[in-house]
Amino acid sequence: MTIPRHGLAALGRALACALFLSNYVCSSQAEIKPDAFHRTIDGSQVDLYALKNSNGLEAKITNYGGIVVSLTAPDKNGKFGDVVLGYDTLNDYIGSTPYFGCLVGRYGNRIAKGRFTIGGVEYQLAQNNDSNALHGGRRGFDKAVWQAEKVETSDGPGLKLTYTSKDGEEDYPGTLRCTVIYTLTNKNELKIEYSAETDKPTFVNLTHHSYFNLKDGGASDILGHELMIKAGKFTPVDKGLIPTGELKPVAGTPFDFNKPTAIGARVENDDEQLKFGKGYDHNWVLDRQGKDLELVASLYEPTSGRFMEVLTTEPGLQFYCGNFLDGTNKGKGGTVYQHRTGLCLETQHFPDSPNHPDFPTTELKPDEKYTQTTVYRFSTK
Ligand code: BGC
Repeated sequence: MTIPRHGLAALGRALACALFLSNYVCSSQAEIKPDAFHRTIDGSQVDLYALKNSNGLEAKITNYGGIVVSLTAPDKNGKFGDVVLGYDTLNDYIGSTPYFGCLVGRYGNRIAKGRFTIGGVEYQLAQNNDSNALHGGRRGFDKAVWQAEKVETSDGPGLKLTYTSKDGEEDYPGTLRCTVIYTLTNKNELKIEYSAETDKPTFVNLTHHSYFNLKDGGASDILGHELMIKAGKFTPVDKGLIPTGELKPVAGTPFDFNKPTAIGARVENDDEQLKFGKGYDHNWVLDRQGKDLELVASLYEPTSGRFMEVLTTEPGLQFYCGNFLDGTNKGKGGTVYQHRTGLCLETQHFPDSPNHPDFPTTELKPDEKYTQTTVYRFSTK
């Protein structure tokens, strides 16, 4: 068979185009370039660190804010995809981010009017969320440059991050020395181990703020994801999302996730709490046996088959279903994150604990050590 010369040229062009496209499509979600994160901020070096486990899962983490920039996990056909929202460059994170993938501190979640008393002294924090304090203030741990060190553990590759928050930083008392170790274990878990020590009594509530979308990393909404939370109660809030103090049973309400339920099934119910949160943005009081690492939640996305389990040592879980995402954030590979295209499962103590003496305490004293461990474990069904 002979192919005319112009036919060959066309075939060549088509092949080149197909190659270019397949390359582009394959790499658009995973190719985050280290160069786009290599920069000094206030004299400290920022970089992007890649952890790859023995099964091919990969996490890319920057020491700016301890942000998990990307995290790949296989679907039921073994195809890897990024399961967290975020940006391609450090500049984007510095510009504006709804806390994509970061470490949150010194106090994750809200403190009413940004005020608390400790040792008889009243402290006033920045009111950076209406009249309340949110996620550690104007320049919380999500904007800090952490010291980074890659570590190899028997569980898998890890990244050790350390940060010292000075006495008075963001108006919190006490110098707080924090260590966070991210490990991408060979059991397909992203394990996060936190510890902290202080030289004066202070309040500490550290958490991690990845927005997950197990279907497509944020290209479409998360309403079909089936969520399970092992909790008989939650902490209802006022209009400013500050807990009223009540521990309310979830039974018979849209807050009962003891049986796996699609997030979209009840999110639009006529419910005062859902109205205050503009959807789910609440803290669940986890049913726990002790203080050890326990399974407290799971998330299943039926089309991809991806399944994520959440284990923690913490008493609470803030489930936030991306109600404030509104299409203004253009993320990785040009994906525009629309309403509810990512969800956070933030393991932590309850919001506004410093002002609720009956909640599990978040006070840390100089002779104590703060620790918390959380695991996001990936598999398929
Ligand atoms: C809070 C939300 C907030 C989001 C982004 C979540 O932890 O619960 O209310 O909008 O973080 O800041």
